[in-house]
Amino acid sequence: MKPFHETRQKIRDELESPAAKRVFGSGWASGVLGIALSLAGLLLVISMCTPGQLLTTPQITPLQENHWFRIGVLLLLVGGFASSVVSLALREAKILGTTGVLLALVATIIGQSIANAHSSHALPIYFGLDWFALNVLFTGLIFIPIERLRPQNPNQPIFRDEWREDVFYVLVSSLMVQALAFLPQAPGKFVGELSTLGAMRDWVGSLPLLVQIPIIMFAADFFQYWAHRAFHRIPWLWNFHAIHHSAQSMDWMSGARMHFVEILIIRSITAIPVLALGFTPLAIELYVLLAYVYTTLIHANIGWRFPLVDRLFVTPQFHHWHHGADKEAIDVNFAIHFPILDRLFGTHHLPKDKWPTSYGIEGHPVPKGYWAQLIYPFRRK
Ligand SMILES: [Zn+2]
Ligand SMILES: [Zn+2]
Repeated sequence: MKPFHETRQKIRDELESPAAKRVFGSGWASGVLGIALSLAGLLLVISMCTPGQLLTTPQITPLQENHWFRIGVLLLLVGGFASSVVSLALREAKILGTTGVLLALVATIIGQSIANAHSSHALPIYFGLDWFALNVLFTGLIFIPIERLRPQNPNQPIFRDEWREDVFYVLVSSLMVQALAFLPQAPGKFVGELSTLGAMRDWVGSLPLLVQIPIIMFAADFFQYWAHRAFHRIPWLWNFHAIHHSAQSMDWMSGARMHFVEILIIRSITAIPVLALGFTPLAIELYVLLAYVYTTLIHANIGWRFPLVDRLFVTPQFHHWHHGADKEAIDVNFAIHFPILDRLFGTHHLPKDKWPTSYGIEGHPVPKGYWAQLIYPFRRK
């Protein structure tokens, strides 16, 4: 185990290396990109050739049957390989480049067995490894460059403190994509069937998509607002929500840090109006996608202020204040789409041109590490 442990540490040191060793032309960016592309390719290949398609997400399965998808995976691996070779040529330390090349090679070898992959889900359970790979790759490719343009905290590297914990949070919620997507629908469906809202449901379902989506956003945010306030107000709920607030650096990954009990509760509550009011499935799916990108955006390390827009919509600055460790940032800005909710209920806080001085919870009571945080709410305080 020792050599493995040492290699892992070496990779980590390289990823987190100081700014002077990350400059353009040092082979750092190409090495990181090489590993990211190769790793995404490897995970996709593994998910494609696992028997019974245990590791694939049903929504992605039809795509995998398409030969363009396979060409895409191949291009991903070729790109990962090429980028790693560039890093090997440029960089003194070879660990990043070597890792990228090895990952690409292993993926190519495993990929040989892809021809055996069959269709249809054999098992009712699956773990979305493919979803995780695509999720991190695309969200990262979109948000990392945006964050570099005008970072709120310019000194915060991509591989900042606790980045591995947050990747793990993304992995866990991707792997539990099924449970996390379906369980929370139960209360909403129940209300929808109970209610005598039949005519209302028909009317809502007949509205144009572009009208349905803003209504879903508002209804979901209204329910989210009060559930969120309850999570701050009620001590045993706060113990779960404290995990989300334990992030001391804000970026595109820090929003993923959330206890799965909180995910289940918050999603069940916000799903009630969405499912009970009779919106069309397409509108709901588009909202889920929008909410995912929106949540990533408001946590991102983005220093733009968006004046005027921030009166109508939640911006990174607005949600950063929610995460601030400063006194003035405590229990403010609960909305995640519309700040008017905070204006209406007296919790709005958005000083012009000012950002929190630090993030997290005063005294940092939450332990570091995924497993310690998983049991944290259940421990005696
Ligand atoms: Zn909160
Ligand atoms: Zn947050």
